Amino acid sequence: MGVDDRRGSVVGGTVATPEEVAARLKDERKVLIAVHENPDGDALGSLSALGQVFDDLGCSWKGYVPGRAPLPSEYLFLPGLDRVARGELPPSPGTLYTLDCASVERFGPEGLQSRFCVNIDHHPDNPHFGDVNLVDPTASSTTQVLYDVFRAGGFPITKAIGTALYVGIVTDTGRFQYSNTTAAAHRMAADLQDMGVDVHDVYRRVYESTPVSKMMLKIRAFETMRFLLDGALAVAVLRVQDFEDTAAQESHTEGIIDGIRTVAGIRVAALFREKLVGGASEFRVSLRSTDGSVDVSEVAHIWGGGGHVRAAGYTIRADVEEAVAALKKEIETRL
Ligand code: 5GP
Ligand code: MN
Repeated sequence: MGVDDRRGSVVGGTVATPEEVAARLKDERKVLIAVHENPDGDALGSLSALGQVFDDLGCSWKGYVPGRAPLPSEYLFLPGLDRVARGELPPSPGTLYTLDCASVERFGPEGLQSRFCVNIDHHPDNPHFGDVNLVDPTASSTTQVLYDVFRAGGFPITKAIGTALYVGIVTDTGRFQYSNTTAAAHRMAADLQDMGVDVHDVYRRVYESTPVSKMMLKIRAFETMRFLLDGALAVAVLRVQDFEDTAAQESHTEGIIDGIRTVAGIRVAALFREKLVGGASEFRVSLRSTDGSVDVSEVAHIWGGGGHVRAAGYTIRADVEEAVAALKKEIETRL
Protein backbone atom coordinates (compact mmCIF):
# COMPACT_ATOMS: atom_id res chain seq x y z
CA MET A 1 0.00 0.00 0.00
CA GLY A 2 1.47 3.36 -1.02
CA VAL A 3 1.79 6.09 1.54
CA ASP A 4 -0.70 8.33 -0.21
CA ASP A 5 -3.30 5.57 -0.25
CA ARG A 6 -3.34 5.77 3.50
CA ARG A 7 -4.60 9.34 3.52
CA GLY A 8 -8.28 10.14 3.70
CA SER A 9 -11.04 7.63 4.15
CA VAL A 10 -10.96 4.26 5.86
CA VAL A 11 -8.32 2.14 4.23
CA GLY A 12 -7.76 -0.52 6.84
CA GLY A 13 -4.29 -1.63 7.87
CA THR A 14 -4.20 -4.50 10.36
CA VAL A 15 -6.37 -4.10 13.43
CA ALA A 16 -4.54 -5.14 16.60
CA THR A 17 -5.64 -5.96 20.13
CA PRO A 18 -4.01 -4.43 23.24
CA GLU A 19 -2.28 -7.82 23.77
CA GLU A 20 -0.80 -7.76 20.26
CA VAL A 21 0.42 -4.20 20.65
CA ALA A 22 1.93 -5.07 24.04
CA ALA A 23 3.84 -7.98 22.45
CA ARG A 24 5.09 -5.62 19.77
CA LEU A 25 6.34 -3.08 22.34
CA LYS A 26 8.49 -5.80 23.95
CA ASP A 27 10.19 -6.49 20.60
CA GLU A 28 11.03 -2.88 19.76
CA ARG A 29 14.62 -1.61 19.93
CA LYS A 30 14.32 1.88 18.45
CA VAL A 31 11.16 3.90 17.88
CA LEU A 32 9.82 7.36 17.15
CA ILE A 33 6.69 8.44 19.08
CA ALA A 34 4.66 11.15 17.34
CA VAL A 35 1.58 13.08 18.45
CA HIS A 36 -0.51 15.74 16.72
CA GLU A 37 0.30 19.40 16.22
CA ASN A 38 -0.81 21.74 19.02
CA PRO A 39 -0.72 18.81 21.44
CA ASP A 40 -3.13 18.69 24.37
CA GLY A 41 -2.88 16.88 27.69
CA ASP A 42 -3.90 13.57 26.16
CA ALA A 43 -1.31 13.76 23.37
CA LEU A 44 1.55 14.73 25.70
CA GLY A 45 0.41 12.40 28.50
CA SER A 46 0.33 9.55 25.97
CA LEU A 47 3.78 10.40 24.65
CA SER A 48 5.27 10.58 28.14
CA ALA A 49 3.62 7.36 29.32
CA LEU A 50 4.67 5.31 26.28
CA GLY A 51 8.17 6.78 26.34
CA GLN A 52 8.61 5.77 29.97
CA VAL A 53 7.41 2.23 29.24
CA PHE A 54 9.89 2.00 26.35
CA ASP A 55 12.63 3.14 28.77
CA ASP A 56 11.67 0.33 31.14
CA LEU A 57 11.69 -2.15 28.23
CA GLY A 58 15.18 -1.03 27.18
CA CYS A 59 13.98 0.41 23.87
CA SER A 60 15.55 3.66 22.73
CA TRP A 61 12.99 6.28 21.68
CA LYS A 62 12.60 9.82 20.53
CA GLY A 63 9.43 11.92 20.55
CA TYR A 64 8.10 14.17 17.82
CA VAL A 65 5.57 16.99 17.85
CA PRO A 66 4.96 18.76 14.51
CA GLY A 67 5.26 22.52 14.33
CA ARG A 68 7.54 24.86 16.22
CA ALA A 69 5.21 26.60 18.68
CA PRO A 70 6.29 26.04 22.30
CA LEU A 71 4.64 23.08 24.03
CA PRO A 72 2.00 24.06 26.63
CA SER A 73 3.95 24.81 29.81
CA GLU A 74 1.50 23.05 32.15
CA TYR A 75 2.50 19.65 30.80
CA LEU A 76 6.27 20.09 30.81
CA PHE A 77 6.59 18.37 34.19
CA LEU A 78 5.79 15.05 32.49
CA PRO A 79 8.95 12.92 32.08
CA GLY A 80 10.41 12.61 28.59
CA LEU A 81 9.06 15.78 27.00
CA ASP A 82 12.64 17.07 26.81
CA ARG A 83 13.26 14.29 24.27
CA VAL A 84 10.75 15.67 21.79
CA ALA A 85 11.97 16.84 18.38
CA ARG A 86 10.15 19.71 16.65
CA GLY A 87 9.80 20.98 13.10
CA GLU A 88 10.30 18.35 10.38
CA LEU A 89 9.63 14.68 11.03
CA PRO A 90 13.08 13.42 12.09
CA PRO A 91 14.71 10.47 10.34
CA SER A 92 14.37 7.27 12.32
CA PRO A 93 15.14 3.70 11.31
CA GLY A 94 12.59 2.28 13.73
CA THR A 95 8.82 1.98 14.00
CA LEU A 96 6.74 5.13 14.11
CA TYR A 97 4.12 5.14 16.88
CA THR A 98 1.42 7.76 16.36
CA LEU A 99 -0.67 8.62 19.43
CA ASP A 100 -3.96 10.55 19.53
CA CYS A 101 -3.65 11.36 15.80
CA ALA A 102 -7.06 11.20 14.10
CA SER A 103 -5.44 11.38 10.68
CA VAL A 104 -2.03 11.40 8.99
CA GLU A 105 -2.36 15.13 8.33
CA ARG A 106 -2.64 15.76 12.09
CA PHE A 107 1.02 14.95 12.60
CA GLY A 108 2.49 16.75 9.66
CA PRO A 109 2.23 17.49 5.97
CA GLU A 110 5.04 15.08 5.15
CA GLY A 111 2.85 12.12 6.05
CA LEU A 112 4.24 8.76 7.04
CA GLN A 113 7.13 8.72 4.55
CA SER A 114 6.87 4.94 4.07
CA ARG A 115 7.60 4.23 7.71
CA PHE A 116 6.14 1.24 9.47
CA CYS A 117 3.46 2.82 11.62
CA VAL A 118 1.59 1.69 14.72
CA ASN A 119 -1.46 3.93 15.13
CA ILE A 120 -2.89 4.14 18.67
CA ASP A 121 -5.89 6.42 19.07
CA HIS A 122 -9.49 6.88 20.24
CA HIS A 123 -10.98 9.10 17.52
CA PRO A 124 -13.98 7.43 15.83
CA ASP A 125 -13.06 8.86 12.43
CA ASN A 126 -9.48 7.55 12.51
CA PRO A 127 -9.08 5.91 9.07
CA HIS A 128 -6.64 3.22 10.29
CA PHE A 129 -3.74 4.79 8.41
CA GLY A 130 -1.18 2.67 10.27
CA ASP A 131 0.22 -0.69 9.28
CA VAL A 132 -1.02 -1.75 12.71
CA ASN A 133 -4.00 0.01 14.25
CA LEU A 134 -5.38 0.05 17.76
CA VAL A 135 -8.21 2.55 17.64
CA ASP A 136 -10.80 2.35 20.41
CA PRO A 137 -13.54 4.97 20.05
CA THR A 138 -15.10 3.86 23.34
CA ALA A 139 -11.97 5.01 25.19
CA SER A 140 -12.23 8.46 26.77
CA SER A 141 -8.60 9.25 25.97
CA THR A 142 -5.65 7.78 24.13
CA THR A 143 -4.02 7.26 27.53
CA GLN A 144 -6.92 4.92 28.34
CA VAL A 145 -6.04 2.85 25.25
CA LEU A 146 -2.41 2.79 26.39
CA TYR A 147 -3.51 1.77 29.88
CA ASP A 148 -5.20 -1.29 28.32
CA VAL A 149 -1.98 -2.08 26.42
CA PHE A 150 0.23 -1.73 29.52
CA ARG A 151 -2.03 -3.98 31.56
CA ALA A 152 -2.24 -6.54 28.74
CA GLY A 153 1.57 -6.65 28.66
CA GLY A 154 1.92 -6.77 32.44
CA PHE A 155 4.14 -3.68 32.35
CA PRO A 156 4.70 -2.06 35.76
CA ILE A 157 2.86 1.26 36.01
CA THR A 158 5.03 3.49 38.16
CA LYS A 159 3.70 6.65 39.79
CA ALA A 160 5.28 8.70 36.98
CA ILE A 161 3.73 6.55 34.22
CA GLY A 162 0.39 6.61 36.03
CA THR A 163 0.57 10.40 36.33
CA ALA A 164 1.09 10.74 32.57
CA LEU A 165 -1.87 8.41 31.91
CA TYR A 166 -3.99 10.37 34.38
CA VAL A 167 -3.17 13.72 32.75
CA GLY A 168 -4.52 12.36 29.45
CA ILE A 169 -7.78 11.15 30.89
CA VAL A 170 -8.46 14.09 33.20
CA THR A 171 -7.94 16.61 30.39
CA ASP A 172 -9.78 14.73 27.60
CA THR A 173 -12.84 14.14 29.81
CA GLY A 174 -12.94 17.77 30.97
CA ARG A 175 -12.13 16.62 34.51
CA PHE A 176 -14.58 13.72 34.24
CA GLN A 177 -17.52 15.85 33.16
CA TYR A 178 -17.86 15.56 29.36
CA SER A 179 -20.18 12.99 27.81
CA ASN A 180 -17.19 10.76 26.98
CA THR A 181 -16.69 10.16 30.71
CA THR A 182 -17.40 6.47 31.10
CA ALA A 183 -17.42 4.30 34.20
CA ALA A 184 -14.24 2.75 32.78
CA ALA A 185 -12.62 6.20 32.82
CA HIS A 186 -13.47 6.59 36.50
CA ARG A 187 -12.20 3.07 37.21
CA MET A 188 -8.94 3.82 35.46
CA ALA A 189 -8.58 7.04 37.49
CA ALA A 190 -9.30 5.15 40.71
CA ASP A 191 -6.73 2.46 39.80
CA LEU A 192 -4.14 5.11 39.05
CA GLN A 193 -4.83 6.84 42.35
CA ASP A 194 -4.34 3.48 44.10
CA MET A 195 -1.01 3.21 42.27
CA GLY A 196 0.15 6.47 43.84
CA VAL A 197 -0.95 9.21 41.46
CA ASP A 198 -1.42 12.46 43.37
CA VAL A 199 -4.57 13.87 41.77
CA HIS A 200 -4.44 17.17 43.62
CA ASP A 201 -0.84 17.70 42.55
CA VAL A 202 -1.89 17.09 38.91
CA TYR A 203 -4.75 19.58 39.36
CA ARG A 204 -2.34 22.21 40.71
CA ARG A 205 0.13 21.65 37.87
CA VAL A 206 -2.39 21.47 35.05
CA TYR A 207 -5.19 23.80 36.14
CA GLU A 208 -3.61 26.24 38.60
CA SER A 209 -0.57 27.20 36.58
CA THR A 210 -2.15 29.43 33.94
CA PRO A 211 0.41 31.85 32.49
CA VAL A 212 -0.72 35.49 32.63
CA SER A 213 -0.58 35.66 28.80
CA LYS A 214 -3.02 32.79 28.58
CA MET A 215 -5.46 34.47 30.95
CA MET A 216 -5.24 37.77 29.04
CA LEU A 217 -5.86 35.93 25.76
CA LYS A 218 -8.89 34.23 27.25
CA ILE A 219 -10.33 37.59 28.28
CA ARG A 220 -9.84 38.85 24.71
CA ALA A 221 -11.63 35.82 23.33
CA PHE A 222 -14.57 36.24 25.70
CA GLU A 223 -14.87 39.91 24.74
CA THR A 224 -15.40 38.91 21.10
CA MET A 225 -18.19 36.43 21.84
CA ARG A 226 -21.13 36.65 19.45
CA PHE A 227 -24.41 34.82 19.77
CA LEU A 228 -25.90 33.79 16.43
CA LEU A 229 -28.94 31.75 15.36
CA ASP A 230 -30.99 32.92 18.35
CA GLY A 231 -28.19 32.05 20.72
CA ALA A 232 -27.73 28.48 19.49
CA LEU A 233 -24.30 29.26 18.02
CA ALA A 234 -21.62 31.13 19.98
CA VAL A 235 -18.53 32.35 18.14
CA ALA A 236 -15.34 33.90 19.46
CA VAL A 237 -12.45 35.07 17.31
CA LEU A 238 -8.79 35.60 18.16
CA ARG A 239 -6.81 37.63 15.62
CA VAL A 240 -3.04 37.67 15.21
CA GLN A 241 -3.06 41.06 16.93
CA ASP A 242 -4.62 39.53 20.06
CA PHE A 243 -1.78 37.02 20.30
CA GLU A 244 0.77 39.80 19.85
CA ASP A 245 -0.84 42.16 22.37
CA THR A 246 -0.99 39.48 25.08
CA ALA A 247 2.30 37.78 24.15
CA ALA A 248 0.32 34.55 23.93
CA GLN A 249 0.89 31.43 21.84
CA GLU A 250 -1.44 29.08 20.05
CA SER A 251 -1.19 26.57 22.93
CA HIS A 252 -2.71 29.22 25.22
CA THR A 253 -6.05 28.79 23.44
CA GLU A 254 -6.61 25.37 25.07
CA GLY A 255 -9.64 25.55 27.35
CA ILE A 256 -11.10 28.82 26.02
CA ILE A 257 -13.79 26.92 24.15
CA ASP A 258 -14.85 25.31 27.42
CA GLY A 259 -15.71 28.74 28.77
CA ILE A 260 -17.62 29.74 25.64
CA ARG A 261 -19.80 26.64 25.74
CA THR A 262 -21.04 27.27 29.29
CA VAL A 263 -23.57 29.95 28.29
CA ALA A 264 -27.21 28.81 28.51
CA GLY A 265 -28.90 27.93 25.22
CA ILE A 266 -25.73 27.35 23.21
CA ARG A 267 -25.80 24.19 21.10
CA VAL A 268 -22.60 24.80 19.17
CA ALA A 269 -19.56 26.78 20.34
CA ALA A 270 -16.82 27.87 17.95
CA LEU A 271 -13.42 29.44 18.50
CA PHE A 272 -11.56 30.89 15.50
CA ARG A 273 -7.81 31.53 15.78
CA GLU A 274 -6.08 33.52 13.06
CA LYS A 275 -2.68 32.51 11.74
CA LEU A 276 -0.72 34.20 8.98
CA VAL A 277 0.54 31.70 6.44
CA GLY A 278 2.56 33.27 3.64
CA GLY A 279 0.91 36.61 4.36
CA ALA A 280 -2.62 35.20 4.06
CA SER A 281 -5.08 34.76 6.92
CA GLU A 282 -5.91 31.23 7.90
CA PHE A 283 -8.18 30.21 10.78
CA ARG A 284 -7.92 27.17 13.01
CA VAL A 285 -11.43 26.47 14.21
CA SER A 286 -12.47 24.47 17.27
CA LEU A 287 -16.08 23.29 17.47
CA ARG A 288 -18.03 21.89 20.39
CA SER A 289 -21.55 20.51 20.45
CA THR A 290 -22.98 21.01 23.94
CA ASP A 291 -25.91 18.56 23.79
CA GLY A 292 -24.71 16.32 20.96
CA SER A 293 -27.65 17.25 18.72
CA VAL A 294 -25.36 18.73 16.06
CA ASP A 295 -22.57 16.43 14.86
CA VAL A 296 -19.68 18.90 14.69
CA SER A 297 -17.26 16.35 13.21
CA GLU A 298 -19.56 16.27 10.17
CA VAL A 299 -19.25 20.06 9.92
CA ALA A 300 -15.45 19.94 10.39
CA HIS A 301 -15.18 17.36 7.59
CA ILE A 302 -16.64 19.87 5.13
CA TRP A 303 -13.37 21.82 5.42
CA GLY A 304 -11.09 18.81 5.63
CA GLY A 305 -10.98 18.58 9.43
CA GLY A 306 -12.48 16.01 11.75
CA GLY A 307 -12.88 14.85 15.32
CA HIS A 308 -15.77 13.56 17.40
CA VAL A 309 -19.53 14.26 17.37
CA ARG A 310 -19.14 16.74 20.24
CA ALA A 311 -15.59 18.05 19.65
CA ALA A 312 -14.01 18.69 16.28
CA GLY A 313 -11.75 21.08 14.42
CA TYR A 314 -10.70 22.30 10.99
CA THR A 315 -8.60 24.89 9.21
CA ILE A 316 -10.03 27.38 6.73
CA ARG A 317 -8.32 29.96 4.58
CA ALA A 318 -10.78 32.81 4.23
CA ASP A 319 -11.74 36.24 5.42
CA VAL A 320 -12.98 36.00 9.00
CA GLU A 321 -16.52 37.17 8.29
CA GLU A 322 -16.82 34.77 5.36
CA ALA A 323 -15.56 31.92 7.52
CA VAL A 324 -18.05 32.73 10.31
CA ALA A 325 -20.92 33.09 7.81
CA ALA A 326 -20.05 29.75 6.20
CA LEU A 327 -20.06 28.04 9.58
CA LYS A 328 -23.34 29.72 10.56
CA LYS A 329 -24.95 28.40 7.39
CA GLU A 330 -23.82 24.84 8.03
CA ILE A 331 -24.98 24.91 11.66
CA GLU A 332 -28.32 26.44 10.73
CA THR A 333 -29.23 23.49 8.50
CA ARG A 334 -28.44 21.09 11.35
CA LEU A 335 -30.38 22.68 14.19
P1 5GP B 1 -9.54 20.91 19.36
O1 5GP B 1 -10.68 21.83 19.11
O2 5GP B 1 -9.36 20.63 20.82
O3 5GP B 1 -8.30 21.30 18.64
O4 5GP B 1 -9.97 19.53 18.71
C1 5GP B 1 -11.15 18.88 19.08
C2 5GP B 1 -11.17 17.49 18.51
O5 5GP B 1 -11.20 17.53 17.10
C3 5GP B 1 -9.95 16.68 18.89
O6 5GP B 1 -10.40 15.38 19.18
C4 5GP B 1 -9.09 16.70 17.65
O7 5GP B 1 -8.37 15.55 17.52
C5 5GP B 1 -10.08 16.88 16.53
N1 5GP B 1 -9.54 17.77 15.51
C6 5GP B 1 -9.23 19.07 15.65
N2 5GP B 1 -8.76 19.58 14.51
C7 5GP B 1 -8.75 18.58 13.61
C8 5GP B 1 -8.36 18.48 12.24
O8 5GP B 1 -7.92 19.44 11.59
N3 5GP B 1 -8.49 17.25 11.66
C9 5GP B 1 -9.00 16.18 12.34
N4 5GP B 1 -9.10 15.02 11.69
N5 5GP B 1 -9.37 16.24 13.63
C10 5GP B 1 -9.26 17.41 14.26
MN1 MN C 1 -7.39 12.47 22.87
